[in-house]
Amino acid sequence: MLTEQICKIRQCHHDNLMARHFDPAYFASLSPAQQKRLQQIILTGIENPDSIMGAYAMHPEDYDLFQPYLDKMIRDYHNIKGELKQVSDWGSDERFDLRNIDPVLANSSMRVRVGRNLADFPLPGAMSKKDRLAFEKRMVGVFSGLVDSPDFGGRYLSLTPDSPYQISEEQYQQLVDEHKMFKDMSADPYLSAAGISSDWPYGRGMYESTDGQLIVWVGEEDHLRIMTMKRGALLNDIFARLRISLDAIERQGLVFARSATYGYVTSCPTNLGTGMRASLHLELPKLTKNGTTLEGLKQLTKTLGLSVRGAGGEHTEAGAGGLVDLSPSGRLQITEEEICRCLYEGIVALREIEQRS
Ligand code: ADP
Ligand code: MG
Repeated sequence: MLTEQICKIRQCHHDNLMARHFDPAYFASLSPAQQKRLQQIILTGIENPDSIMGAYAMHPEDYDLFQPYLDKMIRDYHNIKGELKQVSDWGSDERFDLRNIDPVLANSSMRVRVGRNLADFPLPGAMSKKDRLAFEKRMVGVFSGLVDSPDFGGRYLSLTPDSPYQISEEQYQQLVDEHKMFKDMSADPYLSAAGISSDWPYGRGMYESTDGQLIVWVGEEDHLRIMTMKRGALLNDIFARLRISLDAIERQGLVFARSATYGYVTSCPTNLGTGMRASLHLELPKLTKNGTTLEGLKQLTKTLGLSVRGAGGEHTEAGAGGLVDLSPSGRLQITEEEICRCLYEGIVALREIEQRS
């Protein structure tokens, strides 16, 4: 039944990697308990046949347990042939200064985030409401360490009903509009099918440092999305601040889930490796036909190793003046420094093409 359903999806949805790499013989070789687990992992791709990946891990060890299947999907998505080795390197000396491209970029909106998951909780798709609340409580303890430190300060804000840190609906909406907080995930069919948005809004919240540059999302697609954001021109600044912040957070006694093969474990196999997405908001009025379409730009950015999103994030359209979100597509088999360079060089190329258009 399941096999037939997936084979049908494969015929009509060629990009669905869950369906493309599903092997009935492999599935049949698993124990009933393992089959049940795997079914949960791929349910999102079955319920949403237009998925690109079509799977979310439910436990950090899923990537090892179901490697014969998931590895094929991961290599296909990340375009990896031969040996797979994730190396971390944040670089040191090279400066990536947007003012060298054009002085008008001096006040650009820069953001870099990593997805991280704790080794001792199920991944968000498999968390119970009790797990979500226990996880948030654990993070409140971690954030109190940051709040007390002069380098960070700030506060934790919660969406959990009756939490002492709870914010109002209006405050929440304002944070979303300011690009600081994540949207209501229960509206996302891919996350809902995987159970990732279950129990919304329990156990969800965010920490923000006093200077607003460090933000940590609690309870979105990964346990944690740790990000630094600021307006400026030196990309190195947001990377350096993120690295320092990650160390400070880990020092509070957290152990992040890692895989020997795939680096940092994330819910979605598309984010494995660095878990990193570094983005820049850039105005491209000509290439977006005054902000009316992203279609042509999607093809163009692909050739530069970049992805384009609307100015409101994933699944949004270009903003006023053709404002878009550009980020390197690579997450796995790439270092943090290479991501920074890819973003910088991609912007150099895109600005040139925009000006020539
Ligand atoms: P991610 O999956 O990397 O967290 P999303 O596409 O879901 O990113 O976007 C999350 C939020 O971050 C959105 O509000 C988006 O507009 C905001 N954002 C992303 N990049 C930037 C940037 N460079 N400057 C300002 N806001 C940004
Ligand atoms: Mg997202």
